[in-house]
Amino acid sequence: SFHVVWLRNDLRSYDNAALYNAAAAAHAEPESAVIALFIATPETWQQHHMAPLKQDFIRRRVAQMQKELNDQNIALLALEAGNYEDCMNIFRQLTDAGMIALYGQTEYELREQHRDKIISQQLQDAGVTVNWYDRLCIMPPGSILTQNGDTYKVFTPFKRNWLARLHEQEVRCFPKAKSTMLFNVHDLAGHLSFPAMIDGDDSSVKWPVAEQQVLEIMREFCQQHVADYNNDRDFPAVKGTSGLSAYLACGVLSAHQCVNRLQMEARPALEQEKSGASVWLSELIWREFYKHILVAYPALIKHKPFQADTAAIRWRNNKKLFEAWCEGKTGYPIVDAAMRQLNQTGWMHNRLRMITASFLVKDLQIDWRWGEQYFMSKLIDGEFAANNGGWQWAASTGTDAAPYFRIFNPVTQSERFDPQGKFIRQFMPELAQSDNKEIHWPHKKSTPSNYWPAIVDHNEARKITLALFTEVKKSD
Ligand code: FAD
Repeated sequence: SFHVVWLRNDLRSYDNAALYNAAAAAHAEPESAVIALFIATPETWQQHHMAPLKQDFIRRRVAQMQKELNDQNIALLALEAGNYEDCMNIFRQLTDAGMIALYGQTEYELREQHRDKIISQQLQDAGVTVNWYDRLCIMPPGSILTQNGDTYKVFTPFKRNWLARLHEQEVRCFPKAKSTMLFNVHDLAGHLSFPAMIDGDDSSVKWPVAEQQVLEIMREFCQQHVADYNNDRDFPAVKGTSGLSAYLACGVLSAHQCVNRLQMEARPALEQEKSGASVWLSELIWREFYKHILVAYPALIKHKPFQADTAAIRWRNNKKLFEAWCEGKTGYPIVDAAMRQLNQTGWMHNRLRMITASFLVKDLQIDWRWGEQYFMSKLIDGEFAANNGGWQWAASTGTDAAPYFRIFNPVTQSERFDPQGKFIRQFMPELAQSDNKEIHWPHKKSTPSNYWPAIVDHNEARKITLALFTEVKKSD
């Protein structure tokens, strides 16, 4: 008989509650083993617009984890399926083959919750024990509530409550799981009708996937860079942020591990509100805030705006303008450079995500959902709660969002956060010769330009957007 750990958004062997508990349970029972299971579901991934780069990243991480777990005497069975229906079939087949218990980490999205509910029921009916661990957040959704027992809709009081809770408890990480007996997965061959997971195309190869290496990147950030985080984090030309989002999104790294290490390396700094360590912790709390919101308001997963009145906004949705934005051909250098960063690398700096999102919505009057989907289809760290939260923030449709009348000026943003145009030059060689002032707006009559004209006038665009918002806000 065997215990199965279904790996989904927890692709790590350290601090993995499901893996640790399954191995312990198997160890306690004679003749029972633990196996890890991963099911690739490209059909569902595509429906969720998951970036091909992220798909490759996951496949590479799973292949690597197979080797890592093997050293811990745990076999990782990686299967290729299509969608969530197939997952149910796989569990039926595993039950027939002798599976006695399932372990996994909770997922919060609606379809995933639905899938897990059905699978849990199906397995329990067949006498299989099911154990879910809610460890995507340090403070699980539902555990940080207002005095009235409601979900916080505003970040600052949420964060205050979250921090108070952190003071009361230690952030505990699970040790690496070990097994004494390696299960021979070939024994399952007769039971399983699904093939082994196929390899990716290595498009994400610039992102290391060995667990030790990822932990090392996180440690180094907490030791050497976090102190400068508050000064550097808004400047895309500086490597001032951790670059850990892809790992957090797939669970190669847990938030628990990050905070645990942060406390170890920078405990005194965490007592000061504006220190790099505190501000970085704040970003990890934003990550949890959006997940709490998603669980409390499942309509968000159906792409409903958080502020209901904004559903009536008559977005102009011009396809040509949208294409220009996607391709980085708007004539606003900071926007174009940022979109090239996204298209070429699969990652974009947070400041630039805010600028490009604001530009799409407030300068082009395009529905934020178009941008949300485009980001998802390109980002290696694409993650529903953070992406939806970020887009709804920028679009002023979300919880604790930017007020609709405060509209980023892309040129001013560029001057402020890329003062020497260093970032722009990196992605826009055609502007390399522009001086530090002109590079933010290379459309002066005197400038011989090999750069395309601006697709909209910001001041005009701003007025149109304000009118679109006041129209729906007035009808409250
Ligand atoms: P750091 O600055 O080092 O932050 C550490 C970690 O905190 C990040 O890895 C991330 O897990 C979390 N985090 C940081 N900022 C935020 C935030 N604003 N909201 C939620 N979590 C945060 N982040 C994603 O992980 N996936 C997305 O799909 C995503 N889409 C976004 C879309 C828009 C329009 C905006 C404005 C932001 C989006 N973010 C998203 C948040 C943020 O931009 C990225 O998490 C960050 O740029 C990742 O870089 P880093 O790991 O170096 O971050």
